[in-house]
Amino acid sequence: MDVISAKRGARFQYTPEIPVQLNPIFDWPPNLSGIVRWLAASWLTISMQLFCLALACVVYFVFQPTADEMKNLSFDWIASIWLRNLIIMLSVAGLLHLYFYTFRKQGSDLKYEEQGQKRNSKVHNFGNQVLDNMFWTLGSGVLIWSTYEVLYFWLSVNGHLPMLVIVDNPVWFVAMFVLIPIWSSMHFYWIHRWLHWPPLYKVAHALHHRNVNIGPWAGISMHPIEHIFYFSSFLIHFVILSHPLHFLFHAYYNTIGASTSHCGFEGLQIGGKKRVDLGNFFHQLHHKHIKCNYGTIEMPWDRWFGSFHDGTDEATKRVRKRKW
Ligand SMILES: [Zn+2]
Ligand SMILES: [Zn+2]
Repeated sequence: MDVISAKRGARFQYTPEIPVQLNPIFDWPPNLSGIVRWLAASWLTISMQLFCLALACVVYFVFQPTADEMKNLSFDWIASIWLRNLIIMLSVAGLLHLYFYTFRKQGSDLKYEEQGQKRNSKVHNFGNQVLDNMFWTLGSGVLIWSTYEVLYFWLSVNGHLPMLVIVDNPVWFVAMFVLIPIWSSMHFYWIHRWLHWPPLYKVAHALHHRNVNIGPWAGISMHPIEHIFYFSSFLIHFVILSHPLHFLFHAYYNTIGASTSHCGFEGLQIGGKKRVDLGNFFHQLHHKHIKCNYGTIEMPWDRWFGSFHDGTDEATKRVRKRKW
């Protein structure tokens, strides 16, 4: 089924199965089999969540400065945190972009929009969508993300934050990995909803919405004000019992996860079959229709507040009548 664009009357060239499904954990009556299927798709397949967790482990056990080094705010370890984040972002968004857009390895298979990334664009810096997105991602995004990360590690090694000991709290340790995407979704809905308040939209969020046809570099291409809001999701680790692995997982979920969810392709296809979920049609609809889907599929805030676009033409008609 095609979905009409509110903006240009264009249609997606590819749409996944609609209506878009949301995390059934909030369904009533309880939908146990749905919850099990949802968790299995996130954790028992090659998924973005699993990749973020694996990366968090590698970084924590191999590339983490020692607690002694991090006791004082010195240039060396702060620079190493910034550099590793720069390399992570450059590698993930860069490889996805090269694969899907430069070398077009998958052609148009599972690609939502027909167009490629914009060149000779009047709305983007440097007249180029990808360069504009790289500039805001690597310049402001990595810097502000790293600032939260440095602050977290510096305070934690100095004993100022609640620190989880795995052997003492194994259940909470595991549960946190399932809860972080839900917390992140709630936090994102609320900050994103306010970023659409017209004065704030104009000053900050319009920069992210320069991208109608999104790509991997659009994920955290945001104004610095939005970066400060968006990454403030990490402050939960300053007040709730958690482990550095949770912080790193959360950081990658909000950065790499944004890159994959904006990638413009529903998934990575190998041998003619989708093997890894990447793009997020729910958020793709937000970039196309703007006045809908402010949260993510992990929490039904949009359904509760009437801004849910489930991908159907009826939803498009409803969304067009919304003010903001
Ligand atoms: Zn938005
Ligand atoms: Zn977006």
